[in-house]
Amino acid sequence: MFTFFTSRPKTLKSYVEEALAKKVAIGHFNISNIEGFWAVVNAAKKLKVPVIIGVSEGEREFMGVRQVRALVDSVKSEGFPIFLNADHTYSFEKVKEVVDAGYDSVIYDGTEQSFDDNVAATKKCVAYAKGVNKNILVEAEIGFIGKSSKVLDAIPEGVKISEEFLTKPDEAKKFRDATGVDMLAPAVGNIHGMLSGGKDPALNIGRIAEISKAVKVPLVLHGGSGNSAEDFVAAIDAGVAIIHVNTEIRVAFRDALVAQVTADPSQVAPYKVMKPTVEAMQKVVEEKLRIFNKM
Ligand SMILES: [Zn+2]
Repeated sequence: MFTFFTSRPKTLKSYVEEALAKKVAIGHFNISNIEGFWAVVNAAKKLKVPVIIGVSEGEREFMGVRQVRALVDSVKSEGFPIFLNADHTYSFEKVKEVVDAGYDSVIYDGTEQSFDDNVAATKKCVAYAKGVNKNILVEAEIGFIGKSSKVLDAIPEGVKISEEFLTKPDEAKKFRDATGVDMLAPAVGNIHGMLSGGKDPALNIGRIAEISKAVKVPLVLHGGSGNSAEDFVAAIDAGVAIIHVNTEIRVAFRDALVAQVTADPSQVAPYKVMKPTVEAMQKVVEEKLRIFNKM
């Protein structure tokens, strides 16, 4: 269990270090609306574990870059360890925007660039972010795992999960040493989105352990929707400190909304129409938090 009820507010960095030492992972859940926000907050409060809210470029454009920060702060100011991450950010300008808005962490995603271009761009983001906020964590991704958060019929194009295409430990180390990023998201058999059968391919736990040993920084597992509980636990034990889940929450939202509107088509009060979506998303988040925190 985390020791988060302290008088002095702790940084995300200290929770990530604590997670790594205790061999648990902090859950990272993407939101697109305030229903998602409450789902994550309710679940984390109920289980008394720290949590990270994630917003991609599209999600934060929809909610408002600074407005999400204000929402998260409203809970953080109660002394609850909740943090805000700018998920996959594809340009320096967008990184600058969230750094200036006071986000706790940011992911610069240059995975579609060459290794050298990715290194150069990531270095620029790290320098700017740390110059503004010494406590901010910068994460980068090495290896490609697709870009969608949808239910997929097949492994996304360009994503290869056979061993030779996974992130190589020496390459990850070279990247980490050249850029100074705080955390690394490797391609280890994980995919963004979730296969329609509900079961994603198994993670390569051996490769996670090798990368962790080589880079010596916490690893972040993206694309956690559709992976098994056993794989999560093994990945955490191998060096993963944060796990991202998005698609499963989106599916829960959509299904609950459709069911509600179908069951009661005359209902027009948004807070009544949306209530089941909060409950459905909260259930998913709770389930994942229990696994990630080994509860
Ligand atoms: Zn991701």
